[in-house]
Amino acid sequence: MKTIKITPRGYCHGVVNAINTISNLDILSTKKPIYILGMVIHNKQIVESLNHLDLITLHDDSKTRLELLDEIDSGTVIFTAHGVSPQVYKKAIDKGLDIIDTTCKDVITSQNTIKNFITNGYSVIFIGKHTHPESEAAIGINSNVHIVETIEDIKNLSINNNLVALTNQTTMSIFDIYYLSEEAKKHYPNIVIIEEICNSTRIRQEALLKQDSSIDHCFVVGDKLSNNSAKLVQVSIKEANINSSLIESVEGIDIEKLKTYQKVSVTSGASTPTKVTKEVISFLEQFDKNNPKTHINKSKLNSRNLLTKKALPR
Ligand code: SF4
Repeated sequence: MKTIKITPRGYCHGVVNAINTISNLDILSTKKPIYILGMVIHNKQIVESLNHLDLITLHDDSKTRLELLDEIDSGTVIFTAHGVSPQVYKKAIDKGLDIIDTTCKDVITSQNTIKNFITNGYSVIFIGKHTHPESEAAIGINSNVHIVETIEDIKNLSINNNLVALTNQTTMSIFDIYYLSEEAKKHYPNIVIIEEICNSTRIRQEALLKQDSSIDHCFVVGDKLSNNSAKLVQVSIKEANINSSLIESVEGIDIEKLKTYQKVSVTSGASTPTKVTKEVISFLEQFDKNNPKTHINKSKLNSRNLLTKKALPR
């Protein structure tokens, strides 16, 4: 199968930093038990790998980071690349926990932007996914930070302040930010817009726009919980006009549909382990619709052989 490997793809620097910090932790000298507050990155395979290192991941979709912290009374807490709110930080300190903070520097930049606006009297519109930890951290900065996800959300806002700024979660679609910003301008003509999509997200989305129209299908390798992976699918379908789907591993490939394709492309989210994407690419490259022996898409990866000592960005 003709397979186009879209670059850049896969691990970003923020994910690499978080995984390397955690997987190279000096377990002996770290105060135990060691908890990760939420999924270190939105990838179930990596979370399972870390469980083998005696790290306890606290993950519950129905709970905020602040609520999850109630489950920890001693030891060490690791904050994930998505960042935490000031309340979470304070609560961890008040509980006497040791803190390892792997917040991505791009998220810190975005949080600092919000803090600066708030300090200067602005109300802030934050474009983000309602349930995402980065959004929780952003709205936790101040009650004058308002989260929006859709055009409707913006229409329903009523901000009584002449000073309004808009910024966003780092992993949104560059196109969604544009459409939502344009809507916000209609309601708040003097709005100040500081777009904070991180460079890793931006260049992965822009690379999708360069796909040629002869590609029958684009496979985005990523976890269903990964926002940046979901946005890659969205951009590929809506903006690049390429039939696309999200698969979590080689086992997510629909063989019957694959037989109908001549040429496919592959990219992956910023939190997708490189080995998972490589396995997908190898499978597609050897695939021959007339040879059933090439149709067996059983993964050889498991949570014990997924983590390398040092994660490398693509
Ligand atoms: S996607 Fe962007 S903001 Fe998120 S961890 Fe990676 S570099 Fe940082």
